[in-house]
Amino acid sequence: MNTAYKEFDVVVVGAGPGGLGAAVQAARNGAKVLLVEKNGYLGGNMTIGLPFFGFLDRDANVVMAGLPEEFMAEMRNYETAYGHAASEHCYCPMHNSVTVFDYELFKIVALRKVLDAGVELLLHCDVESVNVENKTLKSITLMGKGYRITVTAKVFIDGTGDGDMAYLTGASFEKGQKDSGVLQPSTLMFNMGNVDLEKTIKFVEEHPEQMDQSKTMEIYSGYDASHFRKYPAFVLFGMKKLVSDLRAEGKMPIDRENLIFISSLLPGEVHLNCTRHLGTDGSDVFSLTHAEVEGYLQIEKLVKTLQEYVPGFEKSYITQIYPSMGIRESRRFSGIRTLTENEVVNGVINEETIGIGGYPVDIHNGNGAGTIFTKTPPYGIPYGITVSDEIEGLMFAGRCASMDAVAMSSARVMGTCMTIGEAAGVGAALAVKKGISPKDVDVQEVRDILRNSGVIVEL
Ligand SMILES: Cc1cc2nc3c(=O)[nH]c(=O)nc-3n(C[C@H](O)[C@H](O)[C@H](O)COP(=O)(O)OP(=O)(O)OC[C@H]3O[C@@H](n4cnc5c(N)ncnc54)[C@H](O)[C@@H]3O)c2cc1C
Repeated sequence: MNTAYKEFDVVVVGAGPGGLGAAVQAARNGAKVLLVEKNGYLGGNMTIGLPFFGFLDRDANVVMAGLPEEFMAEMRNYETAYGHAASEHCYCPMHNSVTVFDYELFKIVALRKVLDAGVELLLHCDVESVNVENKTLKSITLMGKGYRITVTAKVFIDGTGDGDMAYLTGASFEKGQKDSGVLQPSTLMFNMGNVDLEKTIKFVEEHPEQMDQSKTMEIYSGYDASHFRKYPAFVLFGMKKLVSDLRAEGKMPIDRENLIFISSLLPGEVHLNCTRHLGTDGSDVFSLTHAEVEGYLQIEKLVKTLQEYVPGFEKSYITQIYPSMGIRESRRFSGIRTLTENEVVNGVINEETIGIGGYPVDIHNGNGAGTIFTKTPPYGIPYGITVSDEIEGLMFAGRCASMDAVAMSSARVMGTCMTIGEAAGVGAALAVKKGISPKDVDVQEVRDILRNSGVIVEL
């Protein structure tokens, strides 16, 4: 049943970091914007217990600001019973920087930012179909609670992570690693409470071999117990020896070689990035269903293993299983420009740059245990990765933008995704204002607007 027909300048689908960046910037730059989200809240993966990566490069220089910084500054001002709702950007010899924040309060801050910018919201809606005429995206039809709502716009920005709207337009995309097509594993994030993390750190201190890493991982020195004591926000990626011993004894319920514990602002709480599901295709609901089922069953077994064998977790319990599976990679669409591995590893920054990526290349093995982790110099993200080269009026924000698999494995972090979204939002607003295609927008004008709003576009 068709119930409504609405007209906008810009429609953004998906309210993760990419979509939020796009919607806020498009609205602040004068466009009439609709933000569509399938959940009843905003934030996407910003709400599943992950730290905000991307603020510092490998030498601890600040390379990202703009909206990510605006969000974190606002969270930092938030006074709660446990203190401020976001940490500083803490240096990390592995991830370059770690910023943790209160994921529940983030939903409120995100909502306020979007409303303050004048964005209209439509929650609980998925894209049902699209209307493409002469290779131009004219309208999309949303489905919510059995109702169909058709919206027209001059520009549509896909911020769904998996590129669901772009897929329906027939635009070309790639999935998975080069040649093999293997996808990085998915993870169902969860929290445990009543953890004595100091005891876990002491265990690592007394058994430094627990922080040994595989040869495929480039980590700077100092990634040890002293680091976890020094910084309030950290990711403890380790316990290789413990996990390998447990595996040898048949006591490790998961096919992985380490455990990942993320510090929380809440006392006694830890976010766990520990389940692992090989072969999950986030753009396929059958595959997703299988992974979600697997995720819950893995958590049940893993919790028992943690309580029994990991010092500090003896009296812990589950406090939250996040509402949906975390997908590291799926569709990446073709744009007028593609960010490549070569540019990322060589740190190319030029006049096309609309933001800086500062996170290492981080590829979780989709075939089994193991991770490839390589430090890169800071690199530029070109405007063109946000613009479809095939479908007029279609843009991308976040991890579905035009990148090769290796480049995406660095730029996929939430800060960089939000930065990509900001550029898409500014480009879309300029295109609407001038009555031109997002392809023909003057990139220097996009850069000027971004620079003036605090985004770092050059170093
Ligand atoms: C397990 C895991 C660990 C990670 N660790 C980190 C980390 O520690 N730090 C870090 O910075 N990054 C991390 N990442 C990467 C990061 O979380 C994602 O790459 C990033 O969030 C992608 O942003 P996005 O905006 O493109 O998509 P998402 O964050 O996935 O947001 C997409 C949004 O679109 C909505 N949506 C999806 N489909 C539709 C549809 N059809 N219709 C309407 N709405 C829709 C979703 O509900 C969601 O709100 C991790 C990823 C995973 C999976």
